[in-house]
Amino acid sequence: MHSWKSIPIYLSSILVFGFLSLISAQTIDQKVQMLLDKMTLEEKAGQMTQISLEYVCKGYPATADPLELDMVQLAKMVKDMHVGSLLNVGSYAHPVEKWDYLITSIQNMALNETRLGIPIIYGIDAIHGAGYIKDATLFPQSISMAATFNPSLVKKSAQITAVEMRAAGIPWNFNPVLGVGRHPLWSRLWETFGEDPYLVGVMGKAYVEGQEGRNVADSNQVAACMKHYLGYSYPRTGTDRTPAWIPDRQLREIFVPPFQAAVDAGVHSVMVNSSEINGIPVHTSAYYLKELLINEMGFEGFVVSDWLDIKNLYTREKVASSEKEATKMAVMAGIDMSMVPTDTSFTHYLIELVQEGEVPMSRIDEAVSRILKVKFQLGLFENPYPVELMKKQFACDEFKAINLQAARECMTLVKNENGTLPLKQGTRLLVTGPTADKLSLLNGGWTITWQGDREDLYNPERQTIKEALTAAFGTDNVTYSEGCTYDKPVNVEETVKAAELADVIVACLGEHTYCEGPGNIHDLTLPKTQLDFIKALKATGKPLIMIMIEGRPRIIRDIVDDADAILIAFLPGEQGGIAIAEVLSGKINPSGKLPVSYPKNPNNLTLYDHRNSEIQAYKPQWPFGYGLGYTTFETSNLQLDKQTVQIGEPVTVIVDVTNTGSRAGQEVVQLYLQDEVASVTPAVRRLKGFKKIRIQPGETQTVTFIIDKQAMSFINRDNKWTVEPGQFRVMVGNQSERFEVLQ
Ligand code: BGC
Repeated sequence: MHSWKSIPIYLSSILVFGFLSLISAQTIDQKVQMLLDKMTLEEKAGQMTQISLEYVCKGYPATADPLELDMVQLAKMVKDMHVGSLLNVGSYAHPVEKWDYLITSIQNMALNETRLGIPIIYGIDAIHGAGYIKDATLFPQSISMAATFNPSLVKKSAQITAVEMRAAGIPWNFNPVLGVGRHPLWSRLWETFGEDPYLVGVMGKAYVEGQEGRNVADSNQVAACMKHYLGYSYPRTGTDRTPAWIPDRQLREIFVPPFQAAVDAGVHSVMVNSSEINGIPVHTSAYYLKELLINEMGFEGFVVSDWLDIKNLYTREKVASSEKEATKMAVMAGIDMSMVPTDTSFTHYLIELVQEGEVPMSRIDEAVSRILKVKFQLGLFENPYPVELMKKQFACDEFKAINLQAARECMTLVKNENGTLPLKQGTRLLVTGPTADKLSLLNGGWTITWQGDREDLYNPERQTIKEALTAAFGTDNVTYSEGCTYDKPVNVEETVKAAELADVIVACLGEHTYCEGPGNIHDLTLPKTQLDFIKALKATGKPLIMIMIEGRPRIIRDIVDDADAILIAFLPGEQGGIAIAEVLSGKINPSGKLPVSYPKNPNNLTLYDHRNSEIQAYKPQWPFGYGLGYTTFETSNLQLDKQTVQIGEPVTVIVDVTNTGSRAGQEVVQLYLQDEVASVTPAVRRLKGFKKIRIQPGETQTVTFIIDKQAMSFINRDNKWTVEPGQFRVMVGNQSERFEVLQ
């Protein structure tokens, strides 16, 4: 139990404010209605309009540096066009003080210089910490957070992100990404929590809880925006923003559940898939946006389009013959706010459409009510400004420590032959490779800038892998030579020579930083330059450790055998360098597990929850859930409380886990379930529970899981969740037991 004293300062400070806004909660609907009654059509259309910061800054379309608001243009937008929302960073991460100037100027105008004084709702992509705020705490990206299999770390990271956002006066975050990452080629895989719907759902729920807290009005919480609803994460081609083809059954079984988990957690907004499912752009689908999301799933927040996506219906998707028609389609389908983002054509067309009777005022009122409701819930009418108290917490040591813990727990060791790791103190290291000495590559996209590639703007106090290894092993023991870039040799010969003087080679491979379209690739294989580089290093005969810094599992089949140890870090954030050094030195015992199947061959991207007929196709380099440590665990005594149950009755599972090695460690105990026979071909196994526990050497812990009705169910031929009688197999570690669901 938390005592009052043990509540961290950043939480306790807001309780009074939160309590007050809770009292007024029941009147929010009335307040919304009262305000709506006073609004003109133009004011309503403005509320539904979101523009990007650069559009109201001096010099637009050029990016002024330093960024400065163009007060005339801002007035045009906020006062004349009644714009209700802004987003984005304009240029690159601003310090808190700069955000204070930006947000305060914008909100002052909205509050004091407009007829109704409605605050702006400002949103950013703070997807691994508030990356658009200078020197914010930069956590591992979601794919790495998923590898921790530790939802409490996800929740804490989301909570800290909320505090740092509110310090800058930003109350709305375009995260979490709840698309299930089932296409490893996709340039946004790393923004997901991996390939399994259960894992994504658990992490997504934890994220929403961390961001929104018990009361989103608290000045240390923000509104989350689950995205990109629905099916965006499964483009058939693997290329960003290309069509998904997903049968309804699969959609409901795999892709809907994480969004449902966030809705159940009370998420306040949703962003829509830029692309299409089965030929239907999601921005035009009343089925996805109303029937499913609102009527079935019970979503109560508001729906924002993705960037430019109403226009895209006309210019790219070609389902509308004009932008005006696209506007009508999207608004009628259920889009409440358009991320325009740099003109006002949406607003004009919307007004015309209402005047012409093409869009009923009732639809506008519904959309505006949803937006205003969240503005009230966020407490923006009382205080839309940066919160002084949160500024004091910004990037504090407590946050840094939690971030380091997250970076540690995401480290996934997939190979460690002959006890290569950990390395002894005094070992002489050659550190090399394209990802060894760049902070940007540890952090990835949406950091400081959209693409995250402004290495010059990263906090120099953070350590690259090279710097952290130097700190851990001593300057005299660490030599660095770049070797090659992502896809070009630099000084391979020189590096190979340097290796001859070292005891061990630490080759840091992987990807450059990217997101969205610029990250599209057409071959998952790691560039040949890097593969060749490893072959050259291998020829020295020195032990070779490979560190993978990457947003997606790049295929390394040809060099896996060359390595003595392989550590997959994905995108571990700004503490990643230190965490990697700690794994190599043995200061920490790695405990991460793969949140995706790591493919071996580019034409075989079979996922772990494949069908029985695909067993021969599942030949990954390493399977989902895999990861080694510096100790060993044994699973035993798997027991079920019943061998037979009625439909709807849960089964309790207990299992013993023993640390059979010689050092303490954390183990992720994973429970998989197999429905042995079903009327729709069943998956060979599905993750239905996991627990991360710390066990001392020689110690045994008993872990309990409950398999409930939901865990036993699947989407049947009528597209409904169902449990069918029959045998189920429970698998934990190397143990397995069966139970029967009776008719
Ligand atoms: C991305 C979204 C993001 C939005 C706002 C879009 O291009 O798809 O994920 O939230 O931009 O920055």
